[in-house]
Amino acid sequence: MPLEQDEYDPKTPYQLPYPVDALPEIVVPNAIPEDERIWVPQTETVSFRPLCLNRSAGYWVNLLRVRGSGVLSRHRHPQPVHGFVLKGRWEYLEHDWVAEEGGYVFEAPGETHTLVVPDDVPEMITLFQVNGVMLYCDPYGKVTGYEDVFTKIEMCRKHYTEVGLGEDYVDQFIR
Ligand code: FE
Repeated sequence: MPLEQDEYDPKTPYQLPYPVDALPEIVVPNAIPEDERIWVPQTETVSFRPLCLNRSAGYWVNLLRVRGSGVLSRHRHPQPVHGFVLKGRWEYLEHDWVAEEGGYVFEAPGETHTLVVPDDVPEMITLFQVNGVMLYCDPYGKVTGYEDVFTKIEMCRKHYTEVGLGEDYVDQFIR
């Protein structure tokens, strides 16, 4: 059943102030940046581009870029992940499907997987929203390291200082 129309023109903007405690929005015009310095290297083949580093809710949204048949090390997700493939193609060693350009992936809590980019794909870029923590582990689940929104922020600060953007550059992505 359609909602009842109010008496105003449908294009009348909301007239009241936002809650005083609400956080400001984030708008990133060039999400896939032209400035290479914005990509934060993780390994020789893997880097990420922060979009929203949400320390108040404990998740992050970033673009993951893998070049030259790189691998994102085996890890476990206790919380869900959403992914949207913007460029290229990749797969998990643990699954028989392939994530193709334009495709969406939901990774359920309890997943442990290893992301590999095939040899014939020079570059893949995927938007991931990752909740909570990524636990790096050995093939039998023994945890060897982790990443969370705070390690992501730290990596950004270190990298942006080194490339001359300044450690404050990351602040625009933090909420
Ligand atoms: Fe993952």
